[in-house]
Amino acid sequence: MSDIIRLLPDSVANQIAAGEVIQRPASVVKELIENSVDAGASSIKIIIKDAGKTLVQVIDNGCGMSEKDCRMSFERHATSKIKTADDLFAIRTMGFRGEALASIAAIAQVEMRTKRFEDELGSRIVVEGSEVILQEPISCPQGTNFMVKNIFYNVPARRKFLKADTTEFKNIINEIQRVALANPDIAMILNHNNEDVYNLSSGNHRQRIVQLFGKNINQHLVSVNTDTSMLKISGFIGKPEIARKKGGEQFFFINNRYMRHPYFYNAVVKAYENILPPDMSPSFFLFFEADTSTIDINIHPTKTEIKFEEEQAIYQIIHVTIKEGLGKFNVMASIDFNQNTGFAVPYVKKDTEIRPPEIRVNPDFNPFLKENSPYSTKTHHTAVKHWEKLYEGLKNENTPDIRNESDIEPFSENENYIFSGVEQPQFLQLKGKYILTPVKSGLMIIDQRRAHERILYDNYLSLMQEEKVHSQKSLFPESINFNPDDFEIIKELIPDLKKIGYDIEIIGKNSIMVNGVPANEISGDLKTILDSFLETSQSGAFSTSENKKEQLALVLAKSNAINYGKMLEYEEMTNIFNGLFAGLNPNFTPSGKLIVTIVSINDVETLFK
Ligand code: ADP
Ligand code: MG
Repeated sequence: MSDIIRLLPDSVANQIAAGEVIQRPASVVKELIENSVDAGASSIKIIIKDAGKTLVQVIDNGCGMSEKDCRMSFERHATSKIKTADDLFAIRTMGFRGEALASIAAIAQVEMRTKRFEDELGSRIVVEGSEVILQEPISCPQGTNFMVKNIFYNVPARRKFLKADTTEFKNIINEIQRVALANPDIAMILNHNNEDVYNLSSGNHRQRIVQLFGKNINQHLVSVNTDTSMLKISGFIGKPEIARKKGGEQFFFINNRYMRHPYFYNAVVKAYENILPPDMSPSFFLFFEADTSTIDINIHPTKTEIKFEEEQAIYQIIHVTIKEGLGKFNVMASIDFNQNTGFAVPYVKKDTEIRPPEIRVNPDFNPFLKENSPYSTKTHHTAVKHWEKLYEGLKNENTPDIRNESDIEPFSENENYIFSGVEQPQFLQLKGKYILTPVKSGLMIIDQRRAHERILYDNYLSLMQEEKVHSQKSLFPESINFNPDDFEIIKELIPDLKKIGYDIEIIGKNSIMVNGVPANEISGDLKTILDSFLETSQSGAFSTSENKKEQLALVLAKSNAINYGKMLEYEEMTNIFNGLFAGLNPNFTPSGKLIVTIVSINDVETLFK
């Protein structure tokens, strides 16, 4: 029997490889502009026809190619970027597999003109379906002019799978944005069907972001900067105002290369956790610099997924960087009523040793209690009615003591906290949601968000009673428009809003200018707050001005209260506890939800019977 194994002809092998590298016109755009970047171009022009289905043309002023390289560049595994296997570990260029041009030439009609600075004449080469049709000397400017026509002309099955022009063009835009953001010093033009879509002049990162995403974004960018031995981070994060329902502008770059990294993405999102509603996601433009020996870029054919050596430690660095950035501009609320503790997150500086994050002990873990255990139903959670009696007789038992009824007037005499006779009240946070503390009759459980809502509400109402105005200047004034009906209602709220710390003025008809917001404001979005106020007002829920104040305090408290999932420092729990019990209504939120409950010691005891 004769041998049956045969090598595939190059043209077929190239077509198969092309399937990996070139999925759509956007892949062609990506490969070509990355080559231009690698060629040291300072200017790149991209011309597209019919979302790239008819034409993708990339013209650069880079180093160009010699006559021989011009021909060689279309061979598979032909690359000028890797000489030895060691080079693989020190990749700083975009390309290195030497597959792109071979793949593109396998599935399209390609024409390239290229000339090096030192050469008199350049070369022109035409390749169709991997076959060189012609190569000749030609007079042309320095750089490379690459035309890709009729992509998948010889692979109808793949051509059929191309999406509508709008989708394919969106993909092209995405690829261009990534390269453009990573290389703000390179001028770029994008022309689609004879219209300029981008005309980007060279500049810095911030200017490039503004050129790509519009002037408006500028005031919503917070710059971040971290320098550790393991990783450098620079770039910008978006304030909550520019968060989007479906993925904002989200970009990670490593050593000037775009990357996707779901784990690091999570580190960013987590840092926004108490600032953005769960269905919104933040915008960010983060540029990482790391030693090439600590990353592995070769795990994915299109090279957007990258593996790092110490991902857990980097996760922490990213998380802290973002938190710091958000804190810097006061976007983050502090629930600290008396002093400013800032963020007690360890900040890793250059040359410090970085340990992986510690494992948190789950205080909730009970190895003996199964879900639906009969015991759990026996535990009844009673509303606290006489909380002031909770601590009676506990003074010397190393547990909190609460003063009794006659002492309740907030912060009377020179005691300004609610414990007495106890040095260290005990608090434990459960599941980022509850504060636990032992009391005389058992275990007190406080809902952290509801407690904070109550505290803020009381605080807002009392500020509204004062004559003083607590205005705060903001760096980024914002104007809000209303329809005439709504504006009549809003106008009346302005004095109260000012007392709380909003610096607002009426500008022209039906508009206000917000020049400042209170320091502890979380959402930063007065418009949303006022919109929800107007919603209640439409339902006729209040008539008197007193009602209006209460309603305003309520929407503000709801918007600014800490969320579930916020990990609390010991001081923060103390402050919530003190603040809650300094008020007159610690048991229920202004809208009537239970804040505090106690699992009685009897209930605890039955669990062990
Ligand atoms: P890779 O970029 O992975 O090396 P490509 O197939 O994309 O592989 O390109 C092959 C080679 O052709 C490159 O290594 C480079 O030497 C040359 N080349 C491609 N595009 C350009 C360009 N725009 N300017 C100069 N040289 C280029
Ligand atoms: Mg390449």
